[in-house]
Amino acid sequence: MSQAVQLLRDLIALPSVNAAFLPPGDPHAGEAKVADYLAKRAAKTRLDVERQPVAPGSDNLIVRLSPLGQARHRIVLAPHLDTVGGDDPKIYRPTKKGNKLHGRGACDTKGSVAAMFRAIENVAGRKKRPSETEIVFVGLMDEECNQTGSRAFAKLRMKADLALVGEPTRCKVVTAHKGDLWLRLIATGKAAHGARPELGRNAIHSLAQCIVAIETDYAALLRKRRHPLLGHATINTGTIRGGAQPNIVPDHCEADLDRRTLPGETFANIRRELLGVLARRGLKAKLIDVKGFTCPALETDPGLPWVRDFMRVGRQKKPIGVDYYCDAANLAAAGIPTVVWGPGDIAQAHTADEWIALEQLERGTGMLTRFLLSLP
Ligand SMILES: [Zn+2]
Repeated sequence: MSQAVQLLRDLIALPSVNAAFLPPGDPHAGEAKVADYLAKRAAKTRLDVERQPVAPGSDNLIVRLSPLGQARHRIVLAPHLDTVGGDDPKIYRPTKKGNKLHGRGACDTKGSVAAMFRAIENVAGRKKRPSETEIVFVGLMDEECNQTGSRAFAKLRMKADLALVGEPTRCKVVTAHKGDLWLRLIATGKAAHGARPELGRNAIHSLAQCIVAIETDYAALLRKRRHPLLGHATINTGTIRGGAQPNIVPDHCEADLDRRTLPGETFANIRRELLGVLARRGLKAKLIDVKGFTCPALETDPGLPWVRDFMRVGRQKKPIGVDYYCDAANLAAAGIPTVVWGPGDIAQAHTADEWIALEQLERGTGMLTRFLLSLP
């Protein structure tokens, strides 16, 4: 078994479910065990280890490999250490079946952790390593819920030529991803006795009409605007709440919407456009942003020299875009040119039987090691 596979087995065997998904004190919760394991291993390889405290018991782990000479460049390798949960405890036991390794985090995103950490270990072991480029591995906490790890890391304002954010992209370089807004649409009416509905104004009925307009007129409008790598923006009605009992005309109804955004879209311009679509049907509602933090889209110039070089190492001709949100936009917002990259397929992420093809893990480790060794 290769060292990358062995490392991934060890990481899967240390459950690190995002604490937000489990009751307090659950033994599977938190990134600390994985961070401690990697810190110990890094110290053995004589890599510099730092912690950035983010939440109680949950740090970003920062591991540095300094260049042979004076540092003039920097590359950041940034996979997240947390995973989603799972009902079956078997998922926390790494199991090799044929040419696949099964277990929670196998592809999202302990596979990236293993490939990136093995790559930095590989380079650290070479006499001929980069002379001017510092390599920084950052194990980020809390990607699966609020991305507080990458937001905190962004605040360090570390300068870098390139950051690779680990997600299962089948070792393809992803230069764009969609952003995400959670919107609450609120309709208000006038309460009345259920036997005299004509005396009230039914908020459920108003909101239902708004949702029809959003799912038809507004969705059609979104489909008209296409980004070359991301396609069109989308909207989904995820929840609805309203009314107290059958014999009262409801005076309040609200729905939560998930709006996936393209680069450049903001809450202010989305709000204007969406309420405009409702107004054209004579409808009125209130729209608020409920997330409390921004999740912008990612759009990195694929022509940047290190992005081009990395794609060349992977024999990739064109950059790609993905629909899902991840830590990359937060690093990009801090001024670091950022791409998403990692072994494994997003199709297996968050599934009851998560796995990674071992060929992907080996390919990713090799591709990244070669790229790091090619840096100045
Ligand atoms: Zn992930």
